[in-house]
Amino acid sequence: MATKRDFYEILGVPKNASDEEIKKSYRKLAMKYHPDRNQGDASAEVKFKEAKEAYEMLSDAEKRAAYDQFGHAGVDPNMRGPGAGAAGFGGFGETFGDIFGDIFGQARRQQGGGRQVFRGNDLSYAMEVTLEEAAAGKESEIRIPSYDECDTCHGTGAKAGTSPKTCGTCQGQGVVQMRQGFFSVQQTCPHCRGSGKIISDPCSPCHGQGKIKRQKTLEIKIPAGIDDGMRIRSTGNGEPGTNGGPPGDLYIEIRIKKHEVFQRDGDDLHCAVPISFTTAALGGEISVPTLSGEAAIDLPEGTQTGKQFRLRGKGIKGVRSSFPGDLYCHITVETPVKLTEHQRKLLKELDDSLKKGGDKHSPSEAGWADKLKNLFS
Ligand SMILES: [Zn+2]
Ligand SMILES: [Zn+2]
Repeated sequence: MATKRDFYEILGVPKNASDEEIKKSYRKLAMKYHPDRNQGDASAEVKFKEAKEAYEMLSDAEKRAAYDQFGHAGVDPNMRGPGAGAAGFGGFGETFGDIFGDIFGQARRQQGGGRQVFRGNDLSYAMEVTLEEAAAGKESEIRIPSYDECDTCHGTGAKAGTSPKTCGTCQGQGVVQMRQGFFSVQQTCPHCRGSGKIISDPCSPCHGQGKIKRQKTLEIKIPAGIDDGMRIRSTGNGEPGTNGGPPGDLYIEIRIKKHEVFQRDGDDLHCAVPISFTTAALGGEISVPTLSGEAAIDLPEGTQTGKQFRLRGKGIKGVRSSFPGDLYCHITVETPVKLTEHQRKLLKELDDSLKKGGDKHSPSEAGWADKLKNLFS
C-alpha cells in the first residue's frame, strides 16, 4: 500500500493554518483539478480527490485534532464503504456541496454531447433511533422517493407519436454565449434549460419529465456506536440527474432519542443513581443499570451525594473508537419523606445520638461551620 500523503502537505498549508486558510487553499486546488475542467485527466482526478479528502478532515475540528494527534490512523474512516449500490456508504460530513454551491452553482455541471448534464440533488432523511439501537447498530428499512423512466414515453417526455425538437435558441447545445463587455460568457440556455430539446407536446403521465416518482424501500445499515448528528451517505440514492447526469446521494441524518436513564457524552454514559440515606450511611451492594443489563456497585459506608462511580467499558464504543467508553453513576442521597410518628421518633433519637458524637458524624457540616465563623468574624 502506498504511503498516504500528509493532509497539510496536500493542501499546501502550515500545520497551524486557520480554517479560512485551509478553505481558501482547498478551493484553489478544487478549481484547478475539478473533473469538469480536466476531462479525461486521471492524475487531476486523483489530486482532486486527495484535496477533497484532506479538506474534509482538516475542516472538521474533531477530525483535525485526531489527525494532528495520531496521523492517518486517527481519522482512518473505516466507515468508507465500497461506494456502490444501495448499501455503499461514504464517510461522514460531505463537504462537496457546501463549498461548490458558490463556485459551480446549484448543480454540478458537466459538458456532455452538446447538452448540459446536471447531477441530481442530494436528499436528506432524518432517522430517529434509541440509544440502545445507536450503541448496538441496527439495520433499518426506509421508504424514499425513487424515479423510474416513464413507460409511456420511454424517458423522452414527449407524447406518443411525437418526439422532442431541437431547441432553436441554442441549436441543441443547451448553452448560449452572452457578451458582457469584452467577455463572452457561456450560460445555460433559458429556453430549454440546458436540455437542448423542446417538448411541444408533453407526455401526460409524466408531465413531460420523462420520469415518474415512486417509492422504494432501502435497507440502511446503521453502524454500532453512531452518535447524534452523524450522517450516513447512501451513494446514488438522491434525486436523479438531468440529461443523463449522475444521481445525487441520500444522506441519513441520525437523531438519538432522549433516554430515560442515560445521558450520552461522546463514548461515555452518565446516570443518576438515587439511594436511601440509610444505604448511604451503612454502605452495601447496590444495583445500577447499564446498557447491557444490571451491574453491582459496592457502596462504601458514609457515601455522600455527588459521589461518582466509574464502570469501565460500560459506555458506548463509538464508530471510530477502539474501546468502549465508561459509565459514570452519580449518587444522589434521598431524604426520606412522608414519615410516620414512629419513624419521626426514631429519627429524633438517632439525631440526639449523632449530636453526642459532635462533628465527626457530619464531615462537611463541620468544615462548613468553620468557614461561616471565618466569614463573620
Ligand atoms: Zn412520459
Ligand atoms: Zn436551448
